[in-house]
Amino acid sequence: MRDIHIRIRNLTKRFGDVVAVDKVSLEIERGSFTTFLGPSGCGKTTTLRLLAGFYSVDEGEIFFGDRCVNDVPSHKRNATMVFQDYALFPHMTIFENVSYGLKIMKLQTKEIEERVEKTLKFLGLEGLRDRTPGMISGGQQQRAALARSLIMEPEALLLDEPLSNLDAKLRVNIRAELRQIQKSLGITTVYVTHDQEEALAISDSIAVMNKGKVVQFGPPWEIYYRPTNTFVADFVGVANFIHGKISEITSQEIFVDIEDQVLSLMNHRYQVSLGERVVLNIRPETILMSKQSPESQSNVLMGKIKAHTFVGQFIRYWVTCGKREFIVDLHDPSSVGILDGDVYLQLPSSKLHLLPAED
Ligand code: ATP
Repeated sequence: MRDIHIRIRNLTKRFGDVVAVDKVSLEIERGSFTTFLGPSGCGKTTTLRLLAGFYSVDEGEIFFGDRCVNDVPSHKRNATMVFQDYALFPHMTIFENVSYGLKIMKLQTKEIEERVEKTLKFLGLEGLRDRTPGMISGGQQQRAALARSLIMEPEALLLDEPLSNLDAKLRVNIRAELRQIQKSLGITTVYVTHDQEEALAISDSIAVMNKGKVVQFGPPWEIYYRPTNTFVADFVGVANFIHGKISEITSQEIFVDIEDQVLSLMNHRYQVSLGERVVLNIRPETILMSKQSPESQSNVLMGKIKAHTFVGQFIRYWVTCGKREFIVDLHDPSSVGILDGDVYLQLPSSKLHLLPAED
């Protein structure tokens, strides 16, 4: 049976006329890593702050286990928050920063000393205890902020864009570390980011938010390959959209009339009807592009390369096919070189995904 740690029901928060969080409902499993992902202003941080108890709830409920925590103050929720700017006290040493919460709890000096030592060691900070935050690197500051939270042995860890002040490479290393720490402690973690790659890499589940609502909640694989609407498809990864109408449905396949031709895709039990307007989505790395006409003529479009950019592990092409434009990523550029001129695009029917047309 699923062990739900945090249950959110119809959660709503307003700031004046702005509905920052709009009837959000979610279930977060104990020990899981859940990420709120979405564009700036979509309500991620407000949702996290509501969980932390920093904001009062306007409508709806938040449960930690069986307990409704709407009226439970922040320090009694057994959840700690790590902030974007780490919020370390600049004049205190790392030892003093990390031990701060335990001192407030008036624990004995010996126990404080032992717990700090253990936590600093666990996070690889043991040699830095007497330095102030200004004397350590950004990555070490991030770990110190994490140490200060973890030492309180919370049941839930709430992280608000904790890696955003780090450079790209360090960010990737620290996020892997963070995930390892989270897994080894089995601590329920809720994470906020607007970086879709980070969300895909680090999470068990992603809640994609838009305009205060959760528009899809599921594991990264599902969010990427089975988005439920064009917003998610476009926000998470790169999307190629093709508009059309359903022209035939069989148990195996669905045929979509895109005006100048008909494309087929595998029928993953889509709930659609004949004549319905739909949007097909295909990811750039799943399109097959060649100079020669493919053997099978199904789902083939003729196009012309308009531009390309070399990204190292792949080349991204912009290809015009009539009035449509596709983004195609070809991996291992060294084996094919750079293509130009006329090309054939094949859209494998197993890689096309059907989305409802937006109004
Ligand atoms: P970002 O990625 O930019 O931090 P976000 O998704 O975390 O964005 P929130 O900070 O939750 O978004 O903000 C959601 C909406 O609520 C925005 O329109 C924001 O301007 C508004 N908002 C957030 N906090 C307050 C506040 N304290 N007072 C008034 N409006 C607020």
